[in-house]
Amino acid sequence: MSDCIFCKISQHEIPAKVVQESEEAISFLDIHPLAPGHTVVIPKSHVSTVTALSGEAVGPFFLDVKRVTYIIDAALKPDGFNIGWNHGEAGGQAVGHLHVHIIPRWKGDGGGSMHSIVHNPPKEDLDMIYEKLKAIA
Ligand code: AMP
Ligand code: ZN
Repeated sequence: MSDCIFCKISQHEIPAKVVQESEEAISFLDIHPLAPGHTVVIPKSHVSTVTALSGEAVGPFFLDVKRVTYIIDAALKPDGFNIGWNHGEAGGQAVGHLHVHIIPRWKGDGGGSMHSIVHNPPKEDLDMIYEKLKAIA
């Protein structure tokens, strides 16, 4: 996609601190790191979200997520990680090219867990929601 900044990085048209590159994915340091070693992994082909990623691309893409997590772990020795992605505008996605954030965590770094992202418990009964999901699954 011609106006996508992450496509430009994957095509080496603009610079980035590339940590790992494979046929399917490229991983580079986030320009505004939330923690030392904060890296994003993107598929080389432009898709906006994980649901648009082809079935064949999913495996190689997440293999790189694993590889990069290993690299950061070995190099910086954090105590843990938060790994995930913002999906869609409501989920906080600013760059419309799928990217998995790998954020190293250290004890006492003041950060939170996945549970601190949102507090919007359902008003519907859990069974109602479950039935809606099972109707599609
Ligand atoms: P998100 O809110 O999940 O879409 O996050 C987009 C991320 O991309 C942010 O953490 C930005 O700091 C990062 N980012 C944006 N432009 C660049 C760039 N040119 N190089 C590296 N990271 C970038
Ligand atoms: Zn793109």
